[in-house]
Amino acid sequence: KPVIVAIDGPSGTGKSSTSKAVAAQLGLSYLDTGAQYRAITWWMVHNGIDLADPTAVAAVAGKPEIVSGTDPSAPTITVDGVDVAAPIRTQEVTSRVSAVSAVPEVRTRITELQRSLAAGAERGIVVEGRDIGTTVLPDADLKVFLTASPEARAARRSGELKGADLHATREALVKRDAADSSRKTSPLAKADDAVEVDTTELTLAQVIECVVTLVEE
Ligand code: C5P
Repeated sequence: KPVIVAIDGPSGTGKSSTSKAVAAQLGLSYLDTGAQYRAITWWMVHNGIDLADPTAVAAVAGKPEIVSGTDPSAPTITVDGVDVAAPIRTQEVTSRVSAVSAVPEVRTRITELQRSLAAGAERGIVVEGRDIGTTVLPDADLKVFLTASPEARAARRSGELKGADLHATREALVKRDAADSSRKTSPLAKADDAVEVDTTELTLAQVIECVVTLVEE
């Protein structure tokens, strides 16, 4: 039986690195759901949609074709056939993604994509996001909720951004988490049956080992 692993948590907790490595070690597929929300946001920005108007966003939520490649050693993301792996990581997209992902029609659309990818994964899949354990895959075999102090998360994020200002990074991150946690439709939340792992004092290798052990238990 394919194994389904849900890994949720705020940004900067090591979700992506952990999920990718766990999937690779266990021979499972891997899905970065944040990349899908970033991709639809990129398409909206690219097409001049007014992101301050949820009705306008909802009206076109079904338009872009978003395709995720789920090989953990080479994940891919395209929108209408265009490789958007780089542009979805820009500050422009990062600062707007919470507004787009709060629109219920966007979530319905992306959630359907996620469920069909999970159902099609032959050996199983590691799916990382904010609402995977609570909403997208409530019957997952294992649910993990990663946390870390805001200081640790900002330090990791600004390391990734190659020396971006630590204070500004922390502010932006806290703001995005607050928006993601307070939206009405499937907010960032820990499922009741999720295992919480605080990664503040752990190395990436330790977090990976911890999750692999939980899967194998
Ligand atoms: O994980 P990442 O930081 O790339 O996610 C980008 C954004 O996508 C989040 O800030 C959140 O607004 C949205 N997201 C979401 N639900 C998920 C995954 C991501 O709303 N399952």
